[in-house]
Amino acid sequence: MGKIIEYDDQKKPLRMLGTHTDITERKQMETELKESELRYRILTEYSPVGIFRTDSSGGTVYVNPRWCEISKLSFKEAVGDGWLNAVHPEDKNMLIEGWKKAASEAISSKEEYRFLHKDGTVTWVLGYAVPLKNDLGSVIGYIGTITDITKRKESEEALRLSEAKLNESQKVARLGHYNFDIATGIWTNSRMLDELFGIDKSFTRDIAGWTGLIHPDDRVQMHNHFQNHVLTQKNKFDKEYRIIRHSDKKEIWVHEIGDLEFDTEGKPIEMFGTVQDITYSKRIEETLRKLSQVVEQSNVSIMITDKEGRIEYINPKYSEVSGYSFEEVVGQNPRILKSGNHSNELYKEMWNTILSGKNWQGEMNNRKKSGELFWEWVVISPIVNKAGSITHFVAIKEDVTDKKKMIEELIKAKENAEEMNKVKSYFFASMSHELRTPFVGILGFAELLEETLTNSEEKEFASQILKSSKRLIQTLNKILDISLLESTEPVLNLTDLDVNELITETGEMFVQYAKVNNTAINIKAEFAGGKIISDKKLLEAILSNLVNNAVKFTHNGIIEITSKKNTVDETDHLEIKVADTGIGIPKEKQAIIWQEFRQVSEGYNRSFEGTGLGLTITKKYIDALSGKIHLESEEGKGSVFTVEFPVTFSKI
Ligand code: ADP
Repeated sequence: MGKIIEYDDQKKPLRMLGTHTDITERKQMETELKESELRYRILTEYSPVGIFRTDSSGGTVYVNPRWCEISKLSFKEAVGDGWLNAVHPEDKNMLIEGWKKAASEAISSKEEYRFLHKDGTVTWVLGYAVPLKNDLGSVIGYIGTITDITKRKESEEALRLSEAKLNESQKVARLGHYNFDIATGIWTNSRMLDELFGIDKSFTRDIAGWTGLIHPDDRVQMHNHFQNHVLTQKNKFDKEYRIIRHSDKKEIWVHEIGDLEFDTEGKPIEMFGTVQDITYSKRIEETLRKLSQVVEQSNVSIMITDKEGRIEYINPKYSEVSGYSFEEVVGQNPRILKSGNHSNELYKEMWNTILSGKNWQGEMNNRKKSGELFWEWVVISPIVNKAGSITHFVAIKEDVTDKKKMIEELIKAKENAEEMNKVKSYFFASMSHELRTPFVGILGFAELLEETLTNSEEKEFASQILKSSKRLIQTLNKILDISLLESTEPVLNLTDLDVNELITETGEMFVQYAKVNNTAINIKAEFAGGKIISDKKLLEAILSNLVNNAVKFTHNGIIEITSKKNTVDETDHLEIKVADTGIGIPKEKQAIIWQEFRQVSEGYNRSFEGTGLGLTITKKYIDALSGKIHLESEEGKGSVFTVEFPVTFSKI
């Protein structure tokens, strides 16, 4: 007789079922089978592992008590597809798909999934299932186990979280870590170090790999430091060096710190360390270094005080100028330089300005340590922090004592020069009078003599006196004119005048003189638009000088005097041209003829009369009329002088 025990939900035995057969051999076999089933059942009932069995269609037909304990489901809730309701919704699909695949291929399956219990808690399980086959090899169901792996999963998650946090903090600090196995020469590293070095999994992490990443200029030094100072002498690695990032070849500054670990015999077995990206702070350090060098080597005095005005810093120039050393002034108030020559109002105004956040600048008379007074040009600016509050003041000061002295001397020199000019003007006015007056007599009487004398030889003497006197008075006039022009600007005497008339009359004055040289003068006065407002005397002088030169330097030729109206930039201009076919001016001399006393033919052998002042005076007069003069000339062919200046038309 065999017996089968049936249980209720609480796993208490309900009843025992039994059969009676009269066949001894079969009975014996049945007995053995039942005993084996019983053993199996007892094994499953008390198994510490959750066990389940399904039929050929996949429906659960059996779960053991441990299974119920893990899933927190009753036997009834578990059978069929009921157990699936307790599977975590996020894992359900994966589990069903896995099952389907295993069933379709009649293979075993292994899944990790969660039960989401009614009380909201979660249990992680590892489920195994293997197909049960009959003698013909057909799958008649699955038998499987589940084990509670919640603890393992929780510690895995905790590990994952702490790794994520570590990665995150390494990212923030731009710091990665590594482990270097000294025996194998291979290092491993954190994710952040991958990013710093620009490397991936395929990078060979050995000593050569690390050395290859180092900037060529730092490579030998770092490699030697590692081999000798660290590996041989067993010291810490602590160095700042540059790497060339593998991925984008960018130069990066890193600070590496590494420590050795030793075995029981004191032999180094491992090195553990960190590598931090310090490019940003290096850049700031570099900028600061440059800035502080600028300040240190500056040619102006620089002083920094705190907001109460206590000196925190002075540069070497400050010491050089004031005579105070750094140590002597630090902590002191800048009033140690006070000369006592400024009113309290000045200092008050200065403090009010800088305390309101503005710059103050001004000149200050200060006293050196030696007692000597000196002048400084001072600019004081407040230094504010991010919140906008003043933390310090910086004063930049330039010693302007010499400059001030120079300006004073210049002012004195200018005043002297002005005084001298005045004296000169008086001198010229009186000289002009004193020299010209006698000439009136000489010229008048020479002319009278020339007319009244009958003896031809005597007449000739009188004519020579007249000619020489005229030349002398011309020269005298020019010298007086240029001297006057040097000390004073010509004063314009503006009147309405007819340009064409002025040009024609002036030109005609030279016709006789030109005839002596067998030269004709053609006048084409064609300035259109009527009378202009200008200085008649200046215009006459300009034209006379130019025509006089043309006549002087032209023999057997033609002189053309033209005038016309030009419009330049919508302004009316008067253009006067004096063109001759005379000896011309060589290119290399064209620049000098405008200078005082300069002539093309100079020295004792010069071939023409003249002072070399005409063009200089002409140019100054043209300047006074805001005009321009231009020369085109070719040696042997002639010269063209073009004068042009803006004009205002007369209303008459
Ligand atoms: P100067 O009293 O000597 O004529 P200017 O200043 O008027 O003084 O002229 C300077 C020099 O320029 C002249 O000596 C002469 O060499 C040259 N020059 C001026 N005008 C002419 C011209 N029309 N043709 C040739 N040379 C000229």
